[in-house]
Amino acid sequence: MSMMSMPKPLSNSSIFVPGPVLLLGAPGVGKGTQAKRLVERFSIPQISTGDLLREHRKNQTELGMLAEELMAKGLLVPDDLVNQMVATRLTEPDTRNGYILDGFPRTLNQAEWLDRQLADSLLPVVAISIVVPERILLERITGRLICPVCGTIYNMYSEPPSQLGICDREGATLTQRADDTEPVFYERMNAFRSKTAAVVEYYRSHGGRFAEVDGNLSMDEVTRSILATLFELRNATDSLESVQHEKVR
Ligand SMILES: [Zn+2]
Repeated sequence: MSMMSMPKPLSNSSIFVPGPVLLLGAPGVGKGTQAKRLVERFSIPQISTGDLLREHRKNQTELGMLAEELMAKGLLVPDDLVNQMVATRLTEPDTRNGYILDGFPRTLNQAEWLDRQLADSLLPVVAISIVVPERILLERITGRLICPVCGTIYNMYSEPPSQLGICDREGATLTQRADDTEPVFYERMNAFRSKTAAVVEYYRSHGGRFAEVDGNLSMDEVTRSILATLFELRNATDSLESVQHEKVR
C-alpha cells in the first residue's frame, strides 16, 4: 500500500483516529452491520444523506424547505443542496475523530467537492469496498426463506431448515419476499454498479485511499478485515498488529 501524502493525526499513538471512511458494498454484502460495528467501536457517527435530508425537512430548515419544494415538483434534490447539508453536518463536534459515510459521495463531483471541503483537515476520506462474489449474493437473496409465524430467517443454500420449506420451530410453511427474485437482484446490482463506478474509480486512482475486503466470510472476520484495512490505509502499524490477535466482538 502506498504511503499517504497527508499528515498523520496529532493523536496519542494508543488512540486510533479513524477519520472519514466511506463504506461501499452491493446490496446483501452486510454493509449496514459492518458500519454499525465501526460506529460503536470508534464512537463516531454514521452520516447518511438520506437521514440528513429527512432531518432537514422535519426541522424545516432553509435547506430542508428548499429540498421539499423541489421534491413536491417531482424534481431530484441537486448535488449542491446535498453537499450543503453534508458541509453543515461536518461542522458538528462529534465528527472530529471521523465518521462513516453512507450513500455519499455518490458522484465524481461530490467526491471532488468533499476533498476540497476536507482540504484543511488532517485525514482524507478513505474508501473500503466489501466484495462478495455475485453468485453468493444472488444465493443470499433469492435463497432467503422467512417463517411467517416466528420470523426466523433461513437460507435454502447456506442455512436450510431440516425439512424443505418448513420452519424447524413450529412447522409453519416458509415464505419468500416478493422482491427476493433474480430479476430484482440483477436490477439492483446494475444500479449499484453504475452508481458507484465513478466514485470507486476516483478513490482507486488516488493512491492509498481505496481497498477491497473479502466479504464472503463470517461477520466477525469481515469486521477484522475492515479494521486491519483501515489501520493499513491510515498507516497505523501499532493498531494493525493488535487487531490481528484481537477477538473482534
Ligand atoms: Zn417459525
